[in-house]
Amino acid sequence: MIPNSEIKEGDQTDGSLAYPDFTDTEIAFQNKTNRELKETYRLFKLMNNNLLVDTGSLLSKIALRLRLPFVETVMKHTIFKQFCGGENLMDCQSVIDHLYSHNTLAILDYGAESKSAEEDLNDAAKELVKAIDFAASNNSVPVVSCKLTALVENNQLIKKQNKHPLTAHEKKRYKAFLKRINKACARAHKLGVGVFIDAEESWMQDAMDDVVRDLMKKYNRDRVIVYNTYQMYRHDKLEQLRADYFMAHSEGYKLGAKLVRGAYMEKERERAKDLGYPSPIQPDKASTDRDYNEGLKFCLDRYEEIGFCNATHNLESVKLMVDEIIAKDIPRDHRHVNFCQLQGMSDYITFNLSEAGFNTAKYVVYGPVKDVIEYLIRRAEENTAVTGEMSRELKLITTEKKRRGI
Ligand SMILES: Cc1cc2nc3c(=O)[nH]c(=O)nc-3n(C[C@H](O)[C@H](O)[C@H](O)COP(=O)(O)OP(=O)(O)OC[C@H]3O[C@@H](n4cnc5c(N)ncnc54)[C@H](O)[C@@H]3O)c2cc1C
Repeated sequence: MIPNSEIKEGDQTDGSLAYPDFTDTEIAFQNKTNRELKETYRLFKLMNNNLLVDTGSLLSKIALRLRLPFVETVMKHTIFKQFCGGENLMDCQSVIDHLYSHNTLAILDYGAESKSAEEDLNDAAKELVKAIDFAASNNSVPVVSCKLTALVENNQLIKKQNKHPLTAHEKKRYKAFLKRINKACARAHKLGVGVFIDAEESWMQDAMDDVVRDLMKKYNRDRVIVYNTYQMYRHDKLEQLRADYFMAHSEGYKLGAKLVRGAYMEKERERAKDLGYPSPIQPDKASTDRDYNEGLKFCLDRYEEIGFCNATHNLESVKLMVDEIIAKDIPRDHRHVNFCQLQGMSDYITFNLSEAGFNTAKYVVYGPVKDVIEYLIRRAEENTAVTGEMSRELKLITTEKKRRGI
């Protein structure tokens, strides 16, 4: 990551080389005033309630579709404010500056829903190029992220994946998609901005992987610009990560790899069951964790050749990477070793890592409220109580409130 950062590798002083203290809630919430901390507490307390999140998610979707302005305003001042940077790039500047003042970089992610009209796809591509230009002029934004499904009609990806022929019209549209993403990556390459390509549903992912491999071949010759995302909740992804590395190694380009566990587990399992094919998802959480951590070690063993991002809120996976970096004597600010969390989540990981001198960034999602609703619902669902207990975030906020005596 960090292609355009002003931070130089090896700049760290000895003082920054302590082991991060993940129990330090003072550092974790140093970016919040007492008022902000109380607001965050109230929001996470509401999200801790399963029933409320389920009904709230459904009602918000309906209300936004009916264009009820009141709902949009409430969301904007609560859940949107917590998890998003703003409605447009300019709105994000204050969040970016705030993160940077805590040695944390920002990765911009335009949260557009997948659409199919050619005009919408062109607009999403324009927004991506705008974000790349914005990042190039902003030392605290080394990377932008994008979803390929916002740039192409999804049905064409499905056909490609299933090796079904495209009609002449579809071929033309698919070519226009390849042109869009190539134009964006060429610009990113020219300006030294990284591009994370998000991973999505398995029934389109193979087709997207083919596209990303071609992009890496083209733009990752001298340094890592394009990164693919590997979802380790899939049982075939560790193998694919290895195969992609060996291909990159033999063909003379660098692999960019962002590791995630995966966000669409229920949807994947349900579809596989409904359509009667074997689920692509691991049998249990332990298998996902095992492959995730294996993948992480695989990348760190080859950190000179793989630009790597550990995109997780899982403390064990974060600690494992910290331990490996220390054991292998890898500079903590090496541009190929990066941590990333989502804006509004796991500040205790992000800020304690950056305090200890590791490359750390937040994914800052932006876009109109109505377009990021699915993203916000996923965040709310992630923060509900699983077994009637407080969510991890709520526990930490409560600890910090007590520490401050508020
Ligand atoms: C910076 C960033 C970028 C991201 N980008 C993407 C992306 O491009 N694509 C994407 O899909 N997701 C993405 N995610 C979301 C990510 O995939 C996870 O959903 C989320 O981060 C929770 O996983 P975790 O590693 O933080 O930790 P944990 O909370 O330890 O793990 C939860 C995850 O484990 C897996 N899991 C849970 N139960 C089971 C089970 N029974 N069997 C098998 N697996 C199970 C699921 O993937 C679940 O989301 C991103 C996350 C971050 C932080």
